[in-house]
Amino acid sequence: MRSSALPTAFALLLVLSGCVAPSLGGTNLPGVTDAADTIADDGNTSTATPSPTTTSHSNSDSHSHSHTSSSSTDTAEASTAAPPDPAPARDNPWGTEPVVVAVENRGSETRNYVPQVEAATAYWEEHARRYAGFDVEYVVRPDAPNPDLVVRFVDEVPSCGEVTDAAGCAPFIQRAGQVDRPERVLVRTGLSASSTTLVLQHELGHTLGLGHDDAPTDVMKAKSVLYTQPRPDATDRAFPWGDTEFGVYVDDENAADPEGVREQVRHALSYYERGANGSAPSNLSFTFVDSPEAADVVVEFAEDSPCGEGSGSCFTTVGPDPDGDDAIETYTRLTVVLVDLDTEAVGWHVGNWLAYGLGMEAPEERPPPFRDAGYRERRGAWWT
Ligand SMILES: [Zn+2]
Repeated sequence: MRSSALPTAFALLLVLSGCVAPSLGGTNLPGVTDAADTIADDGNTSTATPSPTTTSHSNSDSHSHSHTSSSSTDTAEASTAAPPDPAPARDNPWGTEPVVVAVENRGSETRNYVPQVEAATAYWEEHARRYAGFDVEYVVRPDAPNPDLVVRFVDEVPSCGEVTDAAGCAPFIQRAGQVDRPERVLVRTGLSASSTTLVLQHELGHTLGLGHDDAPTDVMKAKSVLYTQPRPDATDRAFPWGDTEFGVYVDDENAADPEGVREQVRHALSYYERGANGSAPSNLSFTFVDSPEAADVVVEFAEDSPCGEGSGSCFTTVGPDPDGDDAIETYTRLTVVLVDLDTEAVGWHVGNWLAYGLGMEAPEERPPPFRDAGYRERRGAWWT
């Protein structure tokens, strides 16, 4: 058993829910996650067992199978403080009649958003008095001819106030005279049902006069972690990278023979550039870069093994997880860690993990040199 010595932080898509007045820039943060695995170098053959829920899987030899689990963080605020006092009573700017809400889906996908709109309006029917200071009642009628409010779903919310990457946009309505029927709320498509409901709650909160500093903070704060609808994981994709041009950084600090290992890595890379015996896309290109920050693929030599006892190598992958299923969607970095390896075995280990990183997880998908290689084959000219 081992714990991963490599970073395993897991960041999630962070999207801003914008409104007209306050503004904060939204960003999509790429996630950082792990998928670590190990391989020994004792010459035994290997078998692979795909893992359904994480990107890690084993192609290990006899005694060094391990993988890490994903960890996740989120930005939810702990609510240890006493609940805030109820908002002072005031008049509902929408008047005393029910607010008639129409629903328009102008997004590219056919999807029924009415349940989420109903969930959000029900939320405020229950909570508006406490947080906004008045009661509100809604009637959700998707095709209402004369609605008070239109909730429109769009693939991209155009700039909202000063915010350009918003998940939603709504007018900030505090007084009756500000309501200009029909008012319009925009909400981004493509989010999960619960994230869509959260954005709707947030935007409707603005139409009830609540700003980003108002309670309830879990709904009204300017930024929340939002998830997309489920998307294919990296391990389900034929090619789990954004493009076919790879920067490669070889950190030879702990390598016994820096020139020799570079030569070995070069053999592995050019093998893939030639299509890896037809196993890999034919248009891959690899270029050595000067810093790990600029690299898609990092090869490093560990003094203290993070790979587990008896392992000659292991790897981690990094990538975003926008749908929040704890699995990487596409890789942005593959790090191959080599431990105490003979220089002449370096190329094979790098090539082996490249196969995994390029989407060839199953044994039958892998290029021939990585299916059944013994001690000698790993140190031979397997790339020829
Ligand atoms: Zn907002």
